Amino acid sequence: MKNYFMIIDGKPVFADSTFPVINPATGEAFAQAAAGNISHVDDAVVAARAAFPAWSSTPDAERQRLIHAIGAALEANMPELMELVTKENGKPLNGLNGVGSGMEVGGAIAWTHVTADLQLPVEVIQDNDEARIEVHRKPLGVVGSITPWNWPLMIAIWHVIPALRAGNTVVLKPSELTPVATLRFVELANAILPPGVLNIVTGRSGSGIGAAIAKHPGIDKIVFTGSTPTGKQIMQNAAGNLKRMTLELGGNDAGIVLSDVDPKAIASKLFGVAFNNNGQTCACLKRLYVHESIYEELCAELASIARKTIVGNGMSPETQLGPVQNQAQLSFVQELAEDARSHGARFLCGGRVMDGVGYFYEPTVVADVTDGIRLVDEEPFGPILPVIKYSDIDDVIRRANNSPNGLGGSIWSNDRAKAAELALRLECGTAWVNEHGAIQPDAPFGGVKQSGIGVEFGRYGLEEYTSIQTLKIMK
Ligand code: NDP
Repeated sequence: MKNYFMIIDGKPVFADSTFPVINPATGEAFAQAAAGNISHVDDAVVAARAAFPAWSSTPDAERQRLIHAIGAALEANMPELMELVTKENGKPLNGLNGVGSGMEVGGAIAWTHVTADLQLPVEVIQDNDEARIEVHRKPLGVVGSITPWNWPLMIAIWHVIPALRAGNTVVLKPSELTPVATLRFVELANAILPPGVLNIVTGRSGSGIGAAIAKHPGIDKIVFTGSTPTGKQIMQNAAGNLKRMTLELGGNDAGIVLSDVDPKAIASKLFGVAFNNNGQTCACLKRLYVHESIYEELCAELASIARKTIVGNGMSPETQLGPVQNQAQLSFVQELAEDARSHGARFLCGGRVMDGVGYFYEPTVVADVTDGIRLVDEEPFGPILPVIKYSDIDDVIRRANNSPNGLGGSIWSNDRAKAAELALRLECGTAWVNEHGAIQPDAPFGGVKQSGIGVEFGRYGLEEYTSIQTLKIMK
């Protein structure tokens, strides 16, 4: 079984002990990772601070060249990275509608190259006889990144690459559930970057590494993707030195289907955006509101697709949905399902843990539920979709917005102009028409309300890794 090491100051670091990385399709360990501790965070911060002056003053074009080289290294190692993602996270190699580890690694490569090409030009605010005023974007220093288990490699890229592009150095801490693809990425990147620019520390759950990063006085910014409660703790811990932060937290995205659509025509797309990666994506569709006139027909179509979906070990090329990533998440999905059952929900398909090894749950479509039960009000983050009937559009917009979360939302209709108008009434960071969860490296993405702070991607995302310096030159 392979033993994965941390990298601090460009050097491999083995801790005193290791922890197992479990394949959720089998419930068994397939790799070991270094069980680091808080002293490794301190070492990584020292290395990152030492590397910062040279990296931040490296010419822009050279930083871009090195980041493109990282993209090329990811591409050259794509099959290995795909296998690691599938083994640690469970998502299939190919997956439902092509949403699998191939897409995760392909996305990581694309995001790397697009972000490398982004520019932060000096903005001239005034240039007249009196003065010239320029706005410069400067790197912040050391960025602490804490990444989750649902898209482990892609989200590490989303955090690390813009940080490096803007001239920061990084201390990265992946989820203890899915550290290996990220460890391999950092190893590949360290063959290209100067020592200390990108450091990674891994540890067991509860090792306190995450909190140590959030509190560390030598770290200038935190970027975190994960749950809202942990995001709140990070804010508290980061107050000591007023760290900048980007928080991408939970969503419980609503999708609203208007009466003018053909249920048969949209069912497959709706199913995909709710169930890809087993619903374990922050911007999956998680509450589906359907007009009463097409409710039964759309429910039946969704259930029929769910029954035909191939669930299994993600290493098989034909698998569409893999296991839930971990036992705790599986238990949570079960808990929400049983709560819905006790409130009279109609299970159109699924609703059970599958027999055999691994953390498998049947793709589940639930009808006759409404707001106020846990399955609708809480983010399930699993392969279960509540379908909710509505009759009045103003009322359903109000219900969609009646959530502490505000990551994404969608309107489904043949009348695109009307749908766009309704979409703008949704309280969320991204609103889609006839789509959900679709993101791209040049369009900003982030949450409002308790779904987060700040945005990622494109120029707006890159600016979050900088501070503004205004330069006024008197004439
Ligand atoms: P958490 O959101 O709790 O994040 C766990 C990570 O945060 C670990 O790396 C942990 O490191 C770190 N951490 C924990 N406490 C602190 C702290 N006080 N300060 C800094 N870092 C800290 O993830 P879980 O895996 O527990 O998932 C819980 C739920 O989060 C899921 O059920 C799902 O709903 C949601 N989720 C959302 C995601 C998204 O994309 N928005 C992604 C994944 C999960 P350490 O062990 O060192 O403390």
